[in-house]
Amino acid sequence: MTLEQTLPICVAGTWRLGGGERYATSYPATGEPVAWLNAASLDDVEAAVQGAHQAFLHSGWAQRKPHERAAVLYRIAGLIRERAEELAQLQRQDNGKPINETRALVASAAGTFQFFAAACETLEETITPSRGDFVSMSVYEPMGVVAAITPWNSPIASEAQKVAPALAGGNAVVIKPAEITPLLALQLAQICEDAGLPKGLISVLPGKGSLLGDALTRHPLVKRVSFTGGTRTGKHIAHIAADKMMPVSLELGGKSPTIVLDDADLDHAVAGVLYGIFSSSGEACIAGSRLFVARALYEPFMARLTAAAAQLRVGDPADERTQMGPLISAGHRESVERYVALGLAEGGRLRLGGERLSGGAFDKGYFYPPTILEGLGNHQQVCQEEIFGPVLVALPFDSEEELLQQANDSLYALAAGIWSRDYKRAWALGRKLQAGTVWINTYKQFSISTPFGGWRDSGLGREKGRLGILQYMEQKSLYWGMNDQPLAWAGVEATQ
Ligand code: NDP
Repeated sequence: MTLEQTLPICVAGTWRLGGGERYATSYPATGEPVAWLNAASLDDVEAAVQGAHQAFLHSGWAQRKPHERAAVLYRIAGLIRERAEELAQLQRQDNGKPINETRALVASAAGTFQFFAAACETLEETITPSRGDFVSMSVYEPMGVVAAITPWNSPIASEAQKVAPALAGGNAVVIKPAEITPLLALQLAQICEDAGLPKGLISVLPGKGSLLGDALTRHPLVKRVSFTGGTRTGKHIAHIAADKMMPVSLELGGKSPTIVLDDADLDHAVAGVLYGIFSSSGEACIAGSRLFVARALYEPFMARLTAAAAQLRVGDPADERTQMGPLISAGHRESVERYVALGLAEGGRLRLGGERLSGGAFDKGYFYPPTILEGLGNHQQVCQEEIFGPVLVALPFDSEEELLQQANDSLYALAAGIWSRDYKRAWALGRKLQAGTVWINTYKQFSISTPFGGWRDSGLGREKGRLGILQYMEQKSLYWGMNDQPLAWAGVEATQ
């Protein structure tokens, strides 16, 4: 890939220039261009969906035995691993995450394909208990064309979480990656083809979501949308889906509470809270962005946390020691800055950070330091809205009752963390917290075998888990008549 080239996009197995406007993607650490490409056009959406539909009908993919589809998915996992370093470096340039993080995302994508390959070949259809003269079964059928719409913060890992189960389920997939981070999805499509996936089963349409994502969602041949992104966009998609009676899964935003109880192991809690909010520069849906600390511990804990946060290494994403890279764009950094200004206007105090980094390389990229705000109430806007940056709001609490009320007082309910040495106490609290995922004495740990998703404004449906494939399949019940006689109601006598 050279800068002079205009990258082709993948439209139902044909690699060609997109029909939309030419644009450059850029490296958030320097603002310099990484690649030029033409966005997809609405004609490309039509061609991709029609091509995917034809491939679904005629490529034989849906009819292959599960172990045969699995073989291709295993090969995709293998090719991702073979090309892991190249992909991780490209992803670093695509969205500015530190190299260690992008290596982990690439490894996770490979693991996802491997997992769904195994899940595919071991997925069981069931014979259900019979209640009559028949054998009854529950089976699953592929849906057809599935759209996967993904955000910019974890390319390849997000796409793998949708593409792998959708292909395992026998479907065709059209990916709409975020306009600003299309490069890994294009690589993934190439890898799928190299692994022997029949042409047309995967397409990648870079460009604006308001145009392409919207058209994909509305397309009558698209039978399911799997979306990860902001809550506002998710609701828009849900409305369109309601009109089509189309199932959707929506992985949306969060404002997750992390709770430090008065019996917490402070070394673990400091490390976990730091990782929870500041890794990925806070650009994570599950960022632990609301910190609740038992009042008796508040000052000593905050002193340790602040000192440790001040030591985090912010800088060059290519340097293996870097813990926080730049934010995704100048515009996003301005949005984070507006939230910090709002927090101060709401009466908050800065305990750390709060001003963009400057000097040397910091002047080119969109860097922002770890920032801690305190002195606010949970009801205030910066404690309620997702900032999606390295900004932590810290609040002391007096009783567990008050804590629980505040922790659950959010439109979001994606994740939560608890730090306590008392497992019974943590268990009781964990069961009362309203969130799709609760981490106890750990944070931001994931397993592809464990379902993930949010409650309330954090989403609908679950990704991951062995049964994640079933989201991309339609359930069907089959009844096999075993009667010796014709059904009695019609009064027809058996003649043989
Ligand atoms: P957006 O909702 O703006 O975008 C997500 C994707 O949707 C992009 O590909 C975007 O395209 C596309 N899109 C935008 N408008 C439409 C539309 N009208 N119809 C269909 N698709 C559309 O989110 P961000 O990219 O800003 O991502 C950040 C958000 O994602 C945060 O809120 C974060 O919490 C959430 N997120 C949730 C995760 C989870 O698993 N719960 C994981 C990661 C992030 P484009 O950008 O090209 O215009």
